[in-house]
Amino acid sequence: MSMNSGSQHPATIVIVGGVAGGASCAARMRRLHEDAQIIMFERGEHISFASCGISYYLSGEIQERRKLLIQTPERFNARFNVDVRIKSEVIAIHRATKSVEVLDHKTGQQYRQHYDKLVLSPGAAPVRPPLPGIDGERVFFLRSIEDADRIKAYVQDAYPRSAVVVGGGFIGLEMAEGLRNLGLDVTLVEMAGQVMLQLDEELAEFVHQHMKLKGMKLLLGRRVEGFGDAPDGRLAVTLQGGQELICDMAVCAIGVKPEAALAREAGLELGPHGAVIVNRQLQTSDPDIYAIGDVTETHDLIAGVMRHMPLAGIANKQGRLAADHIAGRQIAFDGALGTSIVRIFDLVVAGTGANEKTLRGSNVAHEKSYTHPASHAGYFPGAVPMVMKLLFSPDDGRILGAQIVGVDGVDKRIDVLATATYAGLTVHDLPKLELAYAPQFGSAKDAVNIAGYVADNVVEGDVELFHADELPALIDNDTFLLDVRTAGEFDRGHINGAANIPIDNLRDRWQEIPTGKLLLVYCLTGIRSYLACRILRQKGFRTRNMSGGYVIYCAMNPLECPEIPGLRRWQRLLALETFCSTPEERKTLRRTDE
Ligand code: FAD
Repeated sequence: MSMNSGSQHPATIVIVGGVAGGASCAARMRRLHEDAQIIMFERGEHISFASCGISYYLSGEIQERRKLLIQTPERFNARFNVDVRIKSEVIAIHRATKSVEVLDHKTGQQYRQHYDKLVLSPGAAPVRPPLPGIDGERVFFLRSIEDADRIKAYVQDAYPRSAVVVGGGFIGLEMAEGLRNLGLDVTLVEMAGQVMLQLDEELAEFVHQHMKLKGMKLLLGRRVEGFGDAPDGRLAVTLQGGQELICDMAVCAIGVKPEAALAREAGLELGPHGAVIVNRQLQTSDPDIYAIGDVTETHDLIAGVMRHMPLAGIANKQGRLAADHIAGRQIAFDGALGTSIVRIFDLVVAGTGANEKTLRGSNVAHEKSYTHPASHAGYFPGAVPMVMKLLFSPDDGRILGAQIVGVDGVDKRIDVLATATYAGLTVHDLPKLELAYAPQFGSAKDAVNIAGYVADNVVEGDVELFHADELPALIDNDTFLLDVRTAGEFDRGHINGAANIPIDNLRDRWQEIPTGKLLLVYCLTGIRSYLACRILRQKGFRTRNMSGGYVIYCAMNPLECPEIPGLRRWQRLLALETFCSTPEERKTLRRTDE
């Protein structure tokens, strides 16, 4: 079958699922092939809606529901001449006859539809474990606009005062934030020891502390075992061990699983995550059937393994590429980095490429560095630090991944790093990147350049790092732990056993340091200790700098340091800019912060 425009028998392209991947595929298909018959089946009522915006519609940040409906079936048909059939569920694929079985939910009728090429984009459904009470009317899930309508109606009509959110992935966090902003008491329960598993633990700790500062209760390492009625008629969420959380509603966001039943029943090959396996042309094990988006597994470009990456960008790209291939173009989808970003109250959290857990699990040699650059020039109002973790190859400096937590400027830095990672750049390239600078937007040495300098120093051997998690193994009679912060900072909290010589006194007091020992040097962020390492190295000492400083030490040791230094300050800095109208007010706030 030729798909070139002008062929005598227009091909029939059937698409299952009319949102991110499906709608992209249909629109692209039409642009490439004016004569094809394109039929898009959607089980629900809406096509091409903004799933990524529905949490914000719930919280009221997006006020108008219609803003989520990027396209209606009528407009889509008028623009692209696509036969959109909503409330129409494809319930079986008959590969032998190249047809699908469709259940029309409007009429209850079933019929068959022929295809020349079939594209599956049915997405992924919320995980719904068989827990007692999970189908109760006060337990909610979030995937579709209808789900959002149900939650919104409940919040408006039943006036819930408290909620339990189960699951600390990005949907759980968005829901927790939204419900908290609506004034509810929110408890988030997460089975793992951290929220946002795509982050490494120490970065996730910033999120934990920020959520607590915002008045949320966080129960980590706790598993929900069921839902039931409390004696007072409210909802009881039972945790493993029997503890009950009494609340007015619960939202479950414990992950998604590929909607692969259709594919499985049609005998298409699935991977270990239950997602459809596709080749680089996005064809399933049947070359006339394509699969795209959340139903598929994706090649992880860094770890080299197949993963389930349910992200809108991937679905949209694949939709376009599948249409290209059907139209006879050469395409190859090589995989993805899993770049993602989420906002939790004031905090923005983003990542790209592999995290340290994955690299360790896949035995990929890696080194890491932490930096705390400002969002823009420190002298310009509103500059706020961020925490950046860079993972790279110790051999050639190739960038393997990055994670950033901050309140401003995180999005552009992660996108630069995602581009650099995709392009196969190394840490030696990062200082050379010429990034736009004016004081409102960045620094002459941008945050990305600085991350590059630091990592470059490591690969080049200008400084030897150690990491806070290595400290217990490093401390012995042959090492000397040196804190080079001010005496005031030291008094407010330091690592047990450290000696304090502030950096500005080091040139006068270095003789106090015992000779012949390996000096383990730290400060708040790693900058002053780097300078100290350079001074002491030139005096003949062996030195190692603690990457990321006391801030990262505290994030790695939350039991020892209940508060990450600086996090409250970020909030104050934000408040400073947002709420203080006079210089006097700013001064007062600044003073209380010191
Ligand atoms: P979907 O967009 O889910 O579309 C699948 C459609 O197929 C559904 O409408 C479904 O009804 C329909 N369908 C399923 N089976 C059938 C059938 N048998 N017959 C007919 N129709 C069928 N990603 C990000 O990258 N960033 C974000 O900020 C983000 N936020 C999100 C927030 C929420 C609340 C949710 C739920 C998801 C979010 N995502 C986000 C994920 C993103 O929405 C998905 O990765 C993306 O929509 C996947 O596209 P898809 O085409 O594979 O599936």
